[in-house]
Amino acid sequence: MQAAQPRRFDIAIIGAGPAGLTAALYAGRNMEHAVLIEAKGPGGQLLNTELIEDYPGIKSVLGVDLAQVMLDQAAGFGTEMVTAEVHGIQVHDDGTKTVATSAGDFVAPAVIVTAGGNPRKLDIPGEDELAGRGVSYCAVCDGAFFKGQHLAVVGGGDAAVEEAIFLTRYASRVTIIHRRERFRAQAILFEEAQRNAKIDFILDTVVDAIEGDDKVQRLALRNVKTRAATSLDVGGVFIFIGFVPNTGLADVHVDHDKFGYYTTDPVTMMTSVAGLFAAGDVRSQLTRQITTAVGDATTATIAAAKWVEEWKRGRVEESDELVEDVVEGVV
Ligand code: NAP
Repeated sequence: MQAAQPRRFDIAIIGAGPAGLTAALYAGRNMEHAVLIEAKGPGGQLLNTELIEDYPGIKSVLGVDLAQVMLDQAAGFGTEMVTAEVHGIQVHDDGTKTVATSAGDFVAPAVIVTAGGNPRKLDIPGEDELAGRGVSYCAVCDGAFFKGQHLAVVGGGDAAVEEAIFLTRYASRVTIIHRRERFRAQAILFEEAQRNAKIDFILDTVVDAIEGDDKVQRLALRNVKTRAATSLDVGGVFIFIGFVPNTGLADVHVDHDKFGYYTTDPVTMMTSVAGLFAAGDVRSQLTRQITTAVGDATTATIAAAKWVEEWKRGRVEESDELVEDVVEGVV
C-alpha cells in the first residue's frame, strides 16, 4: 500500500489548549492556510480546572465550558482541526518542517508548538490507582472537594508551598512533605506557609506508597536520614514536584531553560529554530496562565504569518534579521 501524500499548509499548530485554540483563531481570521493538530479533546489544562475567575471579560466560567467556546470560535474562522497524535517534528534544510502524526504527515514552513505539558509524577504504588480519588495535581481544580479534611502536599518548590497555602482555604490541616530539609521555594512564600497555623511540615521524608480502599486514606512515609517508616492518615494528597513540558518533539536542538521549557524571542515567540514558534506552557516564562498562553499565541501566530511571507520570498536564512525587522515595523 502506498503511503498517503503529506498535506501542505503554511502554519501547523500543535496542541489545542488555550494557546493552540488562540493560534487557530488568529490564523483562521487572518485567512492563513493553517491546520491545528491535537491528540486528545481540545481544552488542554482548561479541562483540569473547575472554575475560572481570572480570565478578563468573563466573571466566572467552568474550564470545560471555556474550552468549548474557544474551540467553536476558532473553528468558525476556518482553521482545519485534525485529531491525531503528533509523533515528531522534522526540520528540513529548506526551512520547512514535517509534523509526523498518526493521521499522516503535515508539511509547513511555520510550526507553532502549544503542546503544554504534564505534572511530574512520584511513580509510587497507589498514585495511578487512586488518581481522581484523593490523588491530585491541581489544588485550584480539586481543593474544594476536601473541605474540613487533613491533606498532604508533596514537594518543596514554589508550587508546593503556594498550593499548600491555597488548600488551607478548605482543609482543616495541610502537611507539606518534602524530601529534604531545605526548601527550593522563595523565602517569602515559605515564611507565609510557616506563619499559617493550618500548615505543618514533615521534612527529610519521602512517600513510599499512597494507600486506601477506594479513596486515599493514608500515606506510607520514610525518613531518608533515619530510614524510620511511619504512616500519615489523610483525606487527599496533592503532588507538586514539577511540570514536564512537551518539548521533546523536534529532531533538532531547540534552546531551552534548565527546566526544559523552550526559550523564545520575546518579540516574536520564535524559538532558536527558524520558523518554529512556541506559546503557552511549553515556553519559558515567569508564570503560566490562560491569559499568558492566549497572549503568547497571538504574538506567535502573527509573527509566524510574517515569517512565512518572508520565507516565501527566500529570506529563510535571515531569521535574526527578520526579528529585527518585525521590531522596527519593516515587515
Ligand atoms: P520545582 O521548583 O522544580 O520544585 C519541585 C520540588 O519537588 C522540589 O522541591 C523537589 O525537591 C521536589 N521533587 C522533585 N522530584 C521529587 C520526587 N520524585 N519526590 C519528592 N520530591 C520531589 O517545581 P515547581 O514548584 O513546580 O516550580 C516550577 C517552576 O515554576 C519554578 O521555576 C518555580 O519558581 C515556578 N513557580 C513559581 C511560582 C510563583 O512564583 N508564585 C509558583 C509556582 C511555580 P528538591 O528540592 O529536593 O529537588
